[in-house]
Amino acid sequence: MGRPTLAVWKFASCDGCQLSLLDCEDELLELAGQIEIVHFLEASAAAGDGPYDVSLVEGSITTDADRARIRHVRRVSRKLITIGACATAGGVQALRNFADVEEFASVVYARPEYVATLATSTPIAAHVPVDFELQGCPIDRRQLVEVLAAHLAGRRPDVPDHSVCFECKIRGNVCVMVAHGTPCLGPITHAGCGAICPSYGRGCYGCFGPSPTWGGDRPNTRGLLPWLDMTEGEARRVLSTFNVAAFREAGEREPREEAGDDASP
Ligand code: SF4
Ligand code: SF4
Repeated sequence: MGRPTLAVWKFASCDGCQLSLLDCEDELLELAGQIEIVHFLEASAAAGDGPYDVSLVEGSITTDADRARIRHVRRVSRKLITIGACATAGGVQALRNFADVEEFASVVYARPEYVATLATSTPIAAHVPVDFELQGCPIDRRQLVEVLAAHLAGRRPDVPDHSVCFECKIRGNVCVMVAHGTPCLGPITHAGCGAICPSYGRGCYGCFGPSPTWGGDRPNTRGLLPWLDMTEGEARRVLSTFNVAAFREAGEREPREEAGDDASP
């Protein structure tokens, strides 16, 4: 039996998560001994035919053509793993979901009538079944290697579901929020980066998206506001970056007490 085959696909995105795969360097050599990368246009024009054992999908669905293509990718993939904020949450381009996309296009493009786009940017899981979602903008390469190795071994990936605060504690960081009053989204942000930003004295701005332990009746942004020293509107604006749709969705599960919250991105 040959090695399992891997395909890498791009939808609406900046390519940063695919670059994280290329950035694996030493691990890639080891992985390449166990898998055959047969379709990865970021790295090679050689594109082998499917079906594929594992597909990594970067990017969100923003056009009709995307919708048709992701169904094809699903059909030819035994396992489908989405990587990055675009693929798992719609990405920064999901800002359009809360605005008028025609107005955006008219500001950005000289001839907006040539632009064929959907009014929304949606994650891959909104269109086809997904076997695993890896968050991050971009993803962390150590987590990517772990997810690939786990799927090859047929086990559950060891990707923690706690928040960035845990990673701060593991690194022995002084909390930037408690010690310096710096707003930090670490308590509600998914772990994975190793608490890079607080380690250098700045607050986390949530590029790994909501922690699974945040949302619903769990600790929420409202509870954080006194710590963050922000108004509700300011907090919602901070959350409206790379994972705007995911944070908005989790936030909308929270009880809303005040009328007239600033809900604009
Ligand atoms: S600096 Fe941020 S991530 Fe680190 S412990 Fe404090 S609140 Fe949590
Ligand atoms: S913004 Fe937060 S999640 Fe993103 S790299 Fe910085 S600390 Fe990590």
